[in-house]
Amino acid sequence: MLNLVLFGPPGAGKGTQSQKLIEKYGLIQLSTGDMLRSEIAQGTTLGLEAQALMAEGKLVPDAVVIGMISNKLDANRDAVGFIFDGFPRTVAQAEALDELLKSKNESIAGMIALEVDDEELEHRLLLRGKSSGRPDDANPEVIRKRIKEYNDKTTPVADFYRNQNKFTSINGIGSVEGIFDLICAIIEKLRNAA
Ligand code: AMP
Repeated sequence: MLNLVLFGPPGAGKGTQSQKLIEKYGLIQLSTGDMLRSEIAQGTTLGLEAQALMAEGKLVPDAVVIGMISNKLDANRDAVGFIFDGFPRTVAQAEALDELLKSKNESIAGMIALEVDDEELEHRLLLRGKSSGRPDDANPEVIRKRIKEYNDKTTPVADFYRNQNKFTSINGIGSVEGIFDLICAIIEKLRNAA
């Protein structure tokens, strides 16, 4: 299995690059943001609880997203590998993911971080908000809150993987194809090392 964490702030391009990785490597994308939006669309209790936090740009509780990821891992036992997109977002989530994978004799091969500065992120998210239909993309205040949550709670996750020698970062500003090529080069290295 090839399990990757695609890391970076909201608007860094994780979703776009995940789509290309799915096509090229047949990996399964596990995006906790997409899962939560699907729960909201279905009107589930979990969705209703998450909706208010998401609308404010705050993280939903660790136990909620860890539970969703655990279910998806169980439901996709034959996968060639997973791309974790928007998860883990806290160190507690990263620890839980390691445990979940360990119980299946699996592990994270590497974290690939897309680096984009705050100003560019705000610009990209506001632009995305015009077509994404996501309420959290349309409001500059909520966008800034999401970036702040990322800087406060999520950046320590990079150190978690750095300490395991699994961290690589690349410049997330450039052409989609150019960034994809850089990601693929990292993946090839990880595969050769496996
Ligand atoms: P995203 O689509 O990844 O930008 O996530 C949208 C929103 O969903 C975030 O602003 C959080 O409110 C929530 N969310 C998504 N993934 C997580 C996670 N791993 N931990 C906590 N909250 C999350």
